[in-house]
Parts: sequence; structure tokens; C-alpha cells
Amino acid sequence: MMKTITQQLKALSADGRVKNVIICDFQPYGADACQNCDGMGKVYVWLLTDGPFDNPPGGKKVGHWINGKWWTGNLFGDTCPVCKGSGKNGKV
Ligand SMILES: [Zn+2]
Repeated sequence: MMKTITQQLKALSADGRVKNVIICDFQPYGADACQNCDGMGKVYVWLLTDGPFDNPPGGKKVGHWINGKWWTGNLFGDTCPVCKGSGKNGKV
């Protein structure tokens, strides 16, 4: 399922330094978990600004493996626009 992100996250994603965007998936938390945020109440995106690299980034940076190359960047979260932060799908 294609997830819906907020305008704020879309605006951050549109920054010219951002070369790849990964919308995070989580193990759904609870039977009534919102499908957009998997029950987190927030949607999270990785905005990858650095890469591609042949080797994983060192230090405290988190590496992401995309099409045979390594990338790194920053994680941003915002209130889920579907459940408005409750984390529930409202159908239970
Ligand atoms: Zn949600």
C-alpha cells in the first residue's frame, strides 16, 4: 500500500539535496493499527542526501542499501495524516 505523508514531509523531500526518499514500514502494532503508519501515530521518512557509496557509511550514520549502492541521510517524522496521530484505523 502506498503511504500518505504530510505536506511538511513532502516539502522536506522536495529539497534539492535529497536524492532518495524512503517511507518507513513497521511491523503493524495491534489488530486495529492504522495502515498508513502501522500503529505508530506518525509517519517517518528517510531523506537520503549522501551517496551513492560503494561501502556502508561509518560512525553513527545509518546506511541504506539501494540498487547495489549505499546511501545515508536523516530521518524525519510527522503526525500521520490518516489517523491524526491515534495509530488506530478506527474500524474496530
Ligand atoms: Zn496512522
